[in-house]
Amino acid sequence: MHLARFPRIHLAHLPTPLEHLPRLSAELGGPEIWIKRDDCTGLSTGGNKTRKLEWLMAEAQAMGADMVMTQGATQSNHARQTSAAAAKLGMACHILLEDRTGSNDPNYNGNGNVFLDDLHGATREKRGPGLDMNTEMETVADQYRAKGHKVYTIPGGGSNPTGALGYVNCAFELVSQFNDRSLPFDHIVTATGSAGTQAGLIVGLKAINANIPLLGFGVRAPKPKQEENVFNLAVKTAEKIGAAGCVKREDVVADTDYVGEGYGIPRADTLDAIRMFAQLEAILLDPVYSGKGAAGLIDYCRKGKFKKGERIVFLHTGGAAGLFGYTSAFA
Ligand SMILES: *Cc1c(COP(=O)(O)O)cnc(C)c1O
Repeated sequence: MHLARFPRIHLAHLPTPLEHLPRLSAELGGPEIWIKRDDCTGLSTGGNKTRKLEWLMAEAQAMGADMVMTQGATQSNHARQTSAAAAKLGMACHILLEDRTGSNDPNYNGNGNVFLDDLHGATREKRGPGLDMNTEMETVADQYRAKGHKVYTIPGGGSNPTGALGYVNCAFELVSQFNDRSLPFDHIVTATGSAGTQAGLIVGLKAINANIPLLGFGVRAPKPKQEENVFNLAVKTAEKIGAAGCVKREDVVADTDYVGEGYGIPRADTLDAIRMFAQLEAILLDPVYSGKGAAGLIDYCRKGKFKKGERIVFLHTGGAAGLFGYTSAFA
């Protein structure tokens, strides 16, 4: 698979480490658990959006943009990584933040990722919940265009076929690490939201015939909707890289039983998972995505859905900056 013909700007520290989690594995008494450290991609505290932004920002520069615009929830890790990438490349950045949780906690609204958006010099505006945020963004982009800016808009989470290339490439990177270290894996698990991570990974895994199942733990949409979103993006991404048809509908599997009340609202098992990773392995998860993914992983191990003798890798998608927006949840 030949991705080098797509424009890319190198922003991430790659390859990210693949590490064993011996204390967590012993605590759960089931499979051997490993972690792929995409929380260590390096850009402004790291995270999974940096891989996508390598291809998205290259496309922005290729079209001569002087401004990038994106949208997300208030504590969006994607908005923060986009703000950072724009700062590094000397481009303006404007973000629209949707109030999905209704929280009026000052830390939620001003600390964590929001603090970093401001620090990187991005400008931002708010929206109430339930709007079509990509449509809102295009309206604002047109206002900036009328003022003479060349604006490149990035969909929520950077999840389009261009952004998903970052996770096609991550699948290749991960399988190379398995091969180089002679470590056969039985499952790959990750949190799944705007779908680009899971879609890119499944395309990469299927395109090289890796034969390792991928499971996404949802953070927002119900299972049928989440799987449909991932599958639709995977189909388009496979077409883009010349591997049309490599992903079948049944390759896309999401479990959305760990979402709880809704997006951005941690459950007790989310917070327990965050504490377990912090206290057993000194790894920082986040309350919106990786904490819910890890809660699913832990439950699968305890219920024997992942068994002793199996080897599992958890793709850590980052987000720890968001912890500082959620300190009251841990009180
Ligand atoms: C965005 C995000 C995800 C979900 O990735 P998608 O590509 O949007 O599905 C998972 N974890 C963290 C920390 C994120 O910021």
